[in-house]
Amino acid sequence: AFDKQSPQTENVARRIANTGASSVLFYREPIEMVSAEGVWMTAKDGTRYLDFYNNVPCIGHSHPAVTAAVNKQIATLNTNTRYIVPIVDDYLEALKATFPKELSNVVLTCSGSEANDLAMRLACKHTNGTGFIVTESAYHGNTSLVTQVSPSALKNTSLPEHVIAIPPPAKKYYGDNIEQGFADQVQLAIEELKQRGIKVAALLFDSIFSSDGVFSEPEGFLSKAIEVIHQAGGLYIADEVQPGFARTGTSFWGFQNHNASPDIVTLGKPMGNGFPMAGVVTKPEYLDSFCADVGYFNTFGGNPVAAAAGLAVLKEIKDKNLQENARLMGDYLKAQLQSIAEQSDHIAEVRGSGLFLGIDICHPDSADKPDPEFTVNMIDQFREEHILIGAAGPDGSTLKLRPALCLTKTEADCFIDAFAKILKAS
Ligand code: PMP
Repeated sequence: AFDKQSPQTENVARRIANTGASSVLFYREPIEMVSAEGVWMTAKDGTRYLDFYNNVPCIGHSHPAVTAAVNKQIATLNTNTRYIVPIVDDYLEALKATFPKELSNVVLTCSGSEANDLAMRLACKHTNGTGFIVTESAYHGNTSLVTQVSPSALKNTSLPEHVIAIPPPAKKYYGDNIEQGFADQVQLAIEELKQRGIKVAALLFDSIFSSDGVFSEPEGFLSKAIEVIHQAGGLYIADEVQPGFARTGTSFWGFQNHNASPDIVTLGKPMGNGFPMAGVVTKPEYLDSFCADVGYFNTFGGNPVAAAAGLAVLKEIKDKNLQENARLMGDYLKAQLQSIAEQSDHIAEVRGSGLFLGIDICHPDSADKPDPEFTVNMIDQFREEHILIGAAGPDGSTLKLRPALCLTKTEADCFIDAFAKILKAS
């Protein structure tokens, strides 16, 4: 992290003076960026960085199709959601075509946090419950309600009584039978809530467990946990804010890797390729009961400009076959990184799906001993190689790879070469 007490440059000092304790800059010496294109970002000093960190610009930074669509719509009409503007319904229909038929209603919002907040309220209303089950290092957003189910955001505060966090679906907790072990934990959490006098409302899982350290395998391992929650009268909310929109390669949505049927799905980040938009996709009955009671209005959610951005994103993913590219490039990257990892005692595992990979960094003594310090050093060394990358997991010792879906083999090779070079030098 950067040093808030003695900022390195005038612009860093300026940012800290403006945002105070809420400053969230990267690196000890934060980078001043001026422009970006495709998978590349350009800093003020002219350095071009390969962006393996940011999963928002999914079809590539500053994409001309999104720029053109947003420009055209904002110059024509942008208004709140109380009028009929057909581009909004064009978008909703294109989005719904990517989902199972029963998920036929969409509420558009401006952030993933708002989407999860609404999803939680729908689940509470429908089930008459208030309990939530999440994973130990999950992050689901920043509203008051959603922060309570985001253990990774609670630094010195314990989880409230109505929230139970279970270990993520990793071999180290569940051995070879992740599906059964994970479902058993969900069952135990439901019983614990019951003992506290709380009825469970829902399971809320990021479909690739991003903040927990990226867990996508084995395919289908969520099925039993979902059966368990349904038997208890609770709902399954799939948080697709990170894995959604074709990133996992094998499917458009992360939950599809589990052959799962969520009751509610939340979306965000890549949805507008940087234009702020997010949403909730659900079954009509959950909205019916909720809206009969309190209703929902969002001034900016689903405005015509957001719809234009969203349509451009869906079209580009389809026209350029970016889901297939994510699968091919992801498989290539994973295989290459795994073969380099075999020769290093600092790498415990390379895993993930499509262009969403996690690399566990461990102590040379033992693959079971995470090494957050070495991970931070690696992130700094990647920067020296002009590559941007971040980390996740309970100790911050899993490198998280999420480049734009248009990544080429040459760009993947840049990352692979840097990875090999950094490990060799260590
Ligand atoms: N869910 C997940 C899985 C996320 O990673 C995030 C953001 N990091 C959110 C929800 C919240 O989204 P936003 O920041 O757009 O509110």
